[in-house]
Amino acid sequence: MLIIHFKRITSEWILLLFIQAVLSAEIPSSVKSQSMVSPYNYENVSAWGNLFPTCMGQQQSPIALNKDTIFYTERTPLRWIGYDNQPTEMTLGNNGHTVKLIGKWKNGNVPYISGGPLLDDYVFGQIHFHWGPNDTYGAEHTMHGFTFPLEMHMVHYKRPYGSIGNALKHVDGLAVVGILFTITNQTVVTTLDPVTDYLTYVSKPHTVSNIAPFRLSILGGIYSPMAFMSYSGSLTTPPCNEVVIWIVPIYAWPATSKQLSQLRSLQLQTHTRYNNRPLQPLNGRHVYFYKT
Ligand SMILES: [Zn+2]
Repeated sequence: MLIIHFKRITSEWILLLFIQAVLSAEIPSSVKSQSMVSPYNYENVSAWGNLFPTCMGQQQSPIALNKDTIFYTERTPLRWIGYDNQPTEMTLGNNGHTVKLIGKWKNGNVPYISGGPLLDDYVFGQIHFHWGPNDTYGAEHTMHGFTFPLEMHMVHYKRPYGSIGNALKHVDGLAVVGILFTITNQTVVTTLDPVTDYLTYVSKPHTVSNIAPFRLSILGGIYSPMAFMSYSGSLTTPPCNEVVIWIVPIYAWPATSKQLSQLRSLQLQTHTRYNNRPLQPLNGRHVYFYKT
């Protein structure tokens, strides 16, 4: 595991947001009408609430995670169960907004998490990624004011709800582990290779490819002693359901600049090279710090 290599939120970042806002205001009308056909895009995130009112709710994600505003807590450790189980099938898909990994396991072998802030088992559903236009930022959450280039969302649903779709109707429906990545100088890193090796097969929106099934523990880091932040929030994409128990480890995992550029080379529905939602207000919510 790598110690986080912090990068400060810079005025460039704020400038970039401003430029994005200006650009989106100047899109020719023909392009605008095309983008309105798609349910949402990242060029005009402030408009999400027009079609999806929950996106203007009071418990939205992502947020800035800061040590100044956290509550320390001593609960049971977060436990990862079945992440060494070999899946029978795995597919990678480009849904036009991100690249998504799903798997199939024999009955009873589906990985799940438990403990920490969770009051029940949360079963693995899918993994997807959020990235930015360059290696400076792209992760959705920030940590102590630092930005990261990539965030991996490991989406789990509460076991009694049976599926992600059904869990979206319940305030405690989902537990999403948001792994932050930092760029490593090493030229060979295997953590994300089982995913990035296949990105060229799903370069176009709405394409799906079978990939060689691999144990999720290969992604690395999940069994290490884990300190993390947790809070109640939402999906970071429309319809922004406020049903997510967020778990964000404070240590970043390594990725290479090449892997980031492979992700950016994916064609998304809205032709952007990024898919990260800006920070949302905390609105008085508590953020808890767990160290196990
Ligand atoms: Zn996500």
